[in-house]
Amino acid sequence: MALTVEEQAVEKQARIDLAATFRIIAHLGMHEAVANHFSAAVSADGKKFLINPKWKHFSRIRASDLLLLDADDPANAGHPDVDSTAWSIHGQIHQRLPQARAVLHLHPVYTTAVACLADPHVPPIDQNTARYFNRVAVDRMYGGMADTEAEGERLAGLLDGKSRLLMGNHGVMVIAPNIGEAFDDVWTLERACQILVTAWSTGQPLRVLADDVAEKTAKGWEGITDFSRRHFEEMKEMMIAADPSMLD
Ligand SMILES: [Zn+2]
Repeated sequence: MALTVEEQAVEKQARIDLAATFRIIAHLGMHEAVANHFSAAVSADGKKFLINPKWKHFSRIRASDLLLLDADDPANAGHPDVDSTAWSIHGQIHQRLPQARAVLHLHPVYTTAVACLADPHVPPIDQNTARYFNRVAVDRMYGGMADTEAEGERLAGLLDGKSRLLMGNHGVMVIAPNIGEAFDDVWTLERACQILVTAWSTGQPLRVLADDVAEKTAKGWEGITDFSRRHFEEMKEMMIAADPSMLD
C-alpha cells in the first residue's frame, strides 16, 4: 500500500499509540475476551487505517501486529486476519468520517450496563458524568453481531456530528481526533457510568445537576484536551516500562 513520507511517519507513531491503548484497556479490565477492535487513520483522507488482528488478546499486541487496511479496497474484507465485524464497522467509519482519526469499540461493564437500560442515558450527577451532557448519541437498533457494510454505514451515520455512540444492548463506540483523546474519553465514560450505576444502586433519588452547570462542566472538559492526551501518555509510558517488546 502506497503511503506518503508524512503518512509513514503517522503510521509509525499510530502503531505505538494503538498498541499501547490495547494494553492499557486490558490492564484496566475493560477488554472483552479476544473480541473488540480499535483502529486509527494514517492517511490524510482517513481511509487507510490500522486495526488489530482478530482474536489476539489486547495485552499481547505489539506495534508490528497491527494490520494496515484501505477502506476503499474491498479485497481487505477477505483478509484472513481481519474480523468481518471489524471490517464492516471500522471500514465504513473510516470510509465516511475523515474526522475519525481514532475509533474505539468496547463492551466495558458499566457503560454496557447503562446501554442496556430501556432508556440509555447519562444524567449529569458529577464532574465525570457531566462531561457527556447532551453529547452522546444513542443507538436503539441492536440486531445481532454486525457483519454487514450496511450496518457499518448506519453506525457511521449515527456518529456524524457526535463523537460517542452508546450502543443499546451492546456497548460503546468513541471517535476522536487522536488516539490519546479517544482513550481518555472511553475511560472517563466508563468511570462516569460506574459512578452512575453505583448511585442508582443505592435506590436513593439522584441529585441531577442543573442544565447550565452541566453544560459549563462539559465545556470545561472540552477545554482541557491536553489533560486527556497527558493521561494517555502517562499510561503509555507505564505499558512500555512493563514490556518494552510492545514497541516491536
Ligand atoms: Zn461489540
